[in-house]
Amino acid sequence: MDSRACRSCRSCRGRAGQVVLDLGQQPACDYFPRSDDPGPDPAYPLQMWLCSSCGLAQLLADPTVPEEPKGTEPAALVAQAADAVMRVSAAGWLPAGGAVAEYGSPHGGSWLGLLAARGLGPAGDGEQAHVVLDCFGLMHAADQQSALAERAARVMPGGVLLLQYHALPAIIRGRQWNALRHGHYAYYSTTALTAMLAVVGFSPRTAWAFDLYGGTVLLAASRDGDEAFGADGMDRPDGSDGVGGSDGIGGSDGVGGSVAALLADDARVGVRDPSAFAGLQRNVQAHARNLHDWLVAERSAGRKVLGYGAASRAVALLCQAQVDRLLLPAVVDASPAKQGLRMPGTDIPVAGTAQLASGRPDAVLLFVPDLLAEVRKAFPEVEAAGGSWVDAEKLGS
Ligand SMILES: [Zn+2]
Repeated sequence: MDSRACRSCRSCRGRAGQVVLDLGQQPACDYFPRSDDPGPDPAYPLQMWLCSSCGLAQLLADPTVPEEPKGTEPAALVAQAADAVMRVSAAGWLPAGGAVAEYGSPHGGSWLGLLAARGLGPAGDGEQAHVVLDCFGLMHAADQQSALAERAARVMPGGVLLLQYHALPAIIRGRQWNALRHGHYAYYSTTALTAMLAVVGFSPRTAWAFDLYGGTVLLAASRDGDEAFGADGMDRPDGSDGVGGSDGIGGSDGVGGSVAALLADDARVGVRDPSAFAGLQRNVQAHARNLHDWLVAERSAGRKVLGYGAASRAVALLCQAQVDRLLLPAVVDASPAKQGLRMPGTDIPVAGTAQLASGRPDAVLLFVPDLLAEVRKAFPEVEAAGGSWVDAEKLGS
């Protein structure tokens, strides 16, 4: 792992840091070629770099151009949004009649409908808002410093900045090496985000943890010195301090307790320590080998396997494992935009959901574990025909 003196942090501009995860050359995970395009697809270096100064884990370089066909929004994501809005509202951070500015993810999903139901309307273009919401949007900004500054500037006096992110400790702990992808420039710990917020004069006030993606955090921050309407100390309908979390992170230890708990969890995992990322790197080979071996064994046993979920992590995993259509004849995906295309970096076609019935698979390899409950319900024919759903992430070490 080399230090790169030649680049600077996307947030603090510091130049000291280390590559902590190196996936070598990867095709752009959002470029799905037509199924009759023989390739080879262009590949680009894919590396995670950890800034020694502010601690932000980030994409080292990204020569790709985003062009992902929008996928369908997973039900798990929709349910989490409803849960999150309910909790934030209960904690007093959503003033009825207030204005909201939303910075969304290019992959889709908006909370505006949920917020409208609670009496919040959209702010005008570029206008300040009571609530500035960023749900998986910020990580898509190559320049993290200016993107966060822009969002902070939109917060009106007394307002709140809500940031939701896939938490770095969950990535490290779950060895989710294939969370790293082109187009996602930052992988936030609460520790790094707190440092980034300090630069724009904001502090985290409370946070909620969710199981989504193995660990997702929604952080509420406000301007230093502000009398925020949702400030800690105000009466909350549920008497809580905003400590949340279906995964048990938190614990009601007073004002801002949930933020303190997240920071403590960061420290336990070692989010600023390059050596804490070693398990991620080790799991790349182990996960790829286990997947390949499993697919070979299934084929030898005469069992038919299909994939489900043409997501970026599937692209990375199938490329690392060098899986082709002989081992995995198709990856089923619900998004009509991906029909007629193939997975980047391999000859495996993307198929429509009708394949789940007609193909009568013995096993369906699920690349997005958050979808499990949803797909079992939507496609009962798989299990009715004796097939089973297999979590591709669990084939890792
Ligand atoms: Zn930095």
